[in-house]
Amino acid sequence: MERFPRYLTALARANALGDKISWLFYPGMLQESQDKWWDDFGRRPAAHEGIDICYFRQGKNQFSHLAKNAQIPAMDKGLILNRCEDFLGESLVITHDGFDHYSPKVIFVYSHLAIEKALTPGSRVEKGQIIARVFDTSRKRSRLLPHLHLSCIELTEKTPMDALNWNLFSDRKKINLINPVFI
Ligand SMILES: [Zn+2]
Repeated sequence: MERFPRYLTALARANALGDKISWLFYPGMLQESQDKWWDDFGRRPAAHEGIDICYFRQGKNQFSHLAKNAQIPAMDKGLILNRCEDFLGESLVITHDGFDHYSPKVIFVYSHLAIEKALTPGSRVEKGQIIARVFDTSRKRSRLLPHLHLSCIELTEKTPMDALNWNLFSDRKKINLINPVFI
């Protein structure tokens, strides 16, 4: 249960935010939430399949959010299984070392990104390696701030790498979601 807080620290360091920040989460940013935390604060089209990371507090009353070019590090060593489009930018699908004893497979999906060109399926990443920048949402109509969406997914059957995309991840009958906060 320490990977997620460690990852938040790595994310802060990758963006020189300092070691004293506190990340902030609206209920709508959490897994299974039905609510939007942007635009009209209405309902999401489907329950949230992961966690959104965006806001933090630096000083006592100094609130901020990820910059539009914020750097996204890998949580751990791993193997890239796929990259695919999501509703904002691109998603990177990685199986991290330490989860490979699960069968069939536990995978991580980093979403709403502009991913490094060299990172293609089959290539490996190191812990802390910068894999992407957040997708710049400033030209989107949704008025959604740039943020990292993180999903942790248990595949229930053997799946070809190029089928690891949001058609599959949004189908609750075919996958199991693991809350990344508790990994
Ligand atoms: Zn999200």
